[in-house]
Amino acid sequence: MKTKSLVLALVFGIFCFNIYLSPAVSAGARIDLLVEHGVEKEAETQARLAVNAIFDFFHNTYGLSLERDIKIVLTPDKLNYKDAIKQWYGASEAAAGLQSEITSGLQSRGTIIINLGNIHNNRKQLFVLCHEIVHHFQSQECQNQYGSIRWMTEGVANAIAAHILATVGIRGADYQKQWLETLKKARGWPGLEKLHTPQEWFAALQAYNPEVTYGTASLAVLNLVRWRGYQPLFAYFSALKQTSPEDAFYQAFGARIDDFEKQFRPF
Ligand SMILES: [Zn+2]
Repeated sequence: MKTKSLVLALVFGIFCFNIYLSPAVSAGARIDLLVEHGVEKEAETQARLAVNAIFDFFHNTYGLSLERDIKIVLTPDKLNYKDAIKQWYGASEAAAGLQSEITSGLQSRGTIIINLGNIHNNRKQLFVLCHEIVHHFQSQECQNQYGSIRWMTEGVANAIAAHILATVGIRGADYQKQWLETLKKARGWPGLEKLHTPQEWFAALQAYNPEVTYGTASLAVLNLVRWRGYQPLFAYFSALKQTSPEDAFYQAFGARIDDFEKQFRPF
């Protein structure tokens, strides 16, 4: 009886759509976009545009297709977001409650959950959606060994997410300007050489704040983009399959990472 009512809740609560499959999606992998009841039509349209643009970007820029199934769950508000975290990740009420307060998007084992929110205020959520899809491609390409240089992982996810939102014409998405303003107002920023491990990243989030830490990583990656274009960003992640982050960086950008880290200034 319990199982039956759960199934009914799923059937009535969630409308399932398969999104338009662009050439970027290889025959073996599926994208399931689950749009929960209550998501505004316009917000859904924007999310679909962003999702298609990001898969096209990976296909056109890196020749990368999706190799693993990905499920994207769009929820309309915090309460539904919390329920989706419980449902899809098996999280407890307390853990899901905390996550729904401090995040607007999560990614775990191929399932991305986004609190898409209100159309008038959902630019941040669309950004998170793109950011998490970039992480999906990163783990696909380096087979989950990319964690060692954290500023690259997070900075690349932010730089590509910003590029996609600008490409699809989401208004007010001048992230470079925003990151610069944040850092100019801050009393300082973390040195890139202190943002390698997850522990260092976590310490910086607390010592500075998330905006300053992410902003620093994002502006560093935009520096690389200005210098070498978007193309080498994923040459780096692909190289991590065989080699250390330092060698992967050298192969991708033709420079030593410690030299780059020492000379980098956000402005
Ligand atoms: Zn991230």
